Amino acid sequence: MIYIILFLFGASLGSFINVLSLRYKEDKFILSREIIGGRSHCRNCKKILKWYELIPILSFIFQSGKCRHCKTKLIWQYFWVELICGLIPILTFIYFQNNLITFFPKTISNFFYFWSFILIWDLILLTLVLISLIDLKLKIIPNETIIFLIILGIALNLLIVYNWNEFYSFLGQYNSFFGDFTNFKENRLIAFIFALLFFGGIILVTLGQGMGMGDLKLMIALSIIFGWPETLIISILSFILGGIVSLILILKYKTNLKGILPFGPFIVISSFLTLFLGKQILEFYFYIMNFFN
Ligand SMILES: [Zn+2]
Repeated sequence: MIYIILFLFGASLGSFINVLSLRYKEDKFILSREIIGGRSHCRNCKKILKWYELIPILSFIFQSGKCRHCKTKLIWQYFWVELICGLIPILTFIYFQNNLITFFPKTISNFFYFWSFILIWDLILLTLVLISLIDLKLKIIPNETIIFLIILGIALNLLIVYNWNEFYSFLGQYNSFFGDFTNFKENRLIAFIFALLFFGGIILVTLGQGMGMGDLKLMIALSIIFGWPETLIISILSFILGGIVSLILILKYKTNLKGILPFGPFIVISSFLTLFLGKQILEFYFYIMNFFN
């Protein structure tokens, strides 16, 4: 039952994320009436949708992915985004239920604390999905989404400091390979400075080709949320993923990608990987390193 509620919560927000990402325009505030106002309608025939045509995922399946009135094919984005957003709260619930006890042994039993923690992380991850969609479509990351992430990051940090027992890391024992920053304030500060200097430096050196201010702002928001060394791991993974995808596209289309590929989605995928699989990825990395030594 809890899984169904979590899924519906995520999928409904996914439906909202679809609307925002499809209607967003750079010169409008993201929650302005022009973007979120007006009843949901078919993008082709403009017919206003009935309530049962707005049920996430199910309406898409029962209408076989077509508009009931004009039979225009609906874009698959509706389906996939709702599905992924529905799965995110289930994933965070299972993950933190299994891991929060190792992060905060004394507070796992606190109902309010547990659900606040889960809710903040769900909102962070769903905002990251929205950022990817808008960056893929328009190659910009709206400032509103960055500010929202920073507010969520501050709320998360207050919650952590308030319930502080001992230092924790999504990377498990591997965090100690990246310096001793177990003091909470120092930890967030070093992550922030790294994001600012590293991504700011890249933008200066490359004169903004390939990576933009949006990516820098996104990394700064993530440094507040994730701290150190997670911010470093997210950066490294995003460059590896971006490099692999660029290489595939260059080989396939034999074209120069300058300005074609937005970097935001790689940062977002890397954040998900670091949160849920960071420890396993480092385990694998050190296993390979030992193998070659
Ligand atoms: Zn239609």
